[in-house]
Amino acid sequence: MTNQQDFIITLKNVNKWYGEFHVLKDINLNVKMGERIVICGPSGSGKSTMIRCINHLEEHQEGDIVVDGVLLNNDLKNIGQIRKEVGMVFQHFNLFPHLTVLQNCTLAPIWVRKMPQKEAEAIAMKYLERVKIPDQANKYPGQLSGGQQQRVAIARSLCMNPRVMLFDEPTSALDPEMIKEVLDVMVELAQEGMTMLCVTHEMGFAKKVADRVIFMDAGQIIEENEPESFFNNPQSDRTKLFLSQVL
Ligand code: ADP
Ligand code: MG
Repeated sequence: MTNQQDFIITLKNVNKWYGEFHVLKDINLNVKMGERIVICGPSGSGKSTMIRCINHLEEHQEGDIVVDGVLLNNDLKNIGQIRKEVGMVFQHFNLFPHLTVLQNCTLAPIWVRKMPQKEAEAIAMKYLERVKIPDQANKYPGQLSGGQQQRVAIARSLCMNPRVMLFDEPTSALDPEMIKEVLDVMVELAQEGMTMLCVTHEMGFAKKVADRVIFMDAGQIIEENEPESFFNNPQSDRTKLFLSQVL
């Protein structure tokens, strides 16, 4: 039997409503340390809501979410603790426009982790090198391309040394020629063993790095499998229909 502690993230019978609308229906998900999971499904199926619940950007009403042994409830201490461990990258980058790239990267380490500025800057430069834009450190987000901004967003998350990274359609807002530079960074992260939950329709990425692909529809997890079986032998008609549209 698998021990509860083996999982970095657990969702147990999670339900959420927006008003009357039942957006997440009995979601059960266990994520092991180092696992790379791709979440796909039609627009409106609840993918963003589910991953936003994991760091409490959205609140669920029923069921349990446990991240790194901490139960996510309305205890602000728990929420703060979980947010320190969970990095998030959004579709629209969400960088602070009035701060430089370097300042975007050092803000949370200085204010949340209480790191000395010099140390935070050294770490930020290390990650900006890893996403291949150290030369942009003193520019403002508005001076960068979308692909560069998204790489800054990834570097900014990594500066907090997260145990898990959540990605919500990180390449959907990018021009086609910039998608690859962001996916390349994500593939590298995956290969280095980062625990990742990625909402994406980049099925090439899923085939390359995912340990598991999860298909959601209408607020439920309909099907999950390792990529080979998921793509070659989908079980549900809804999965088949979805794959016929995105592949
Ligand atoms: P996905 O990411 O799979 O496209 P979302 O999680 O964003 O889906 O949304 C799931 C459903 O919940 C959609 O029908 C959407 O319109 C609805 N929804 C999302 N956010 C809110 C909100 N803040 N208030 C009310 N309904 C919402
Ligand atoms: Mg979404």
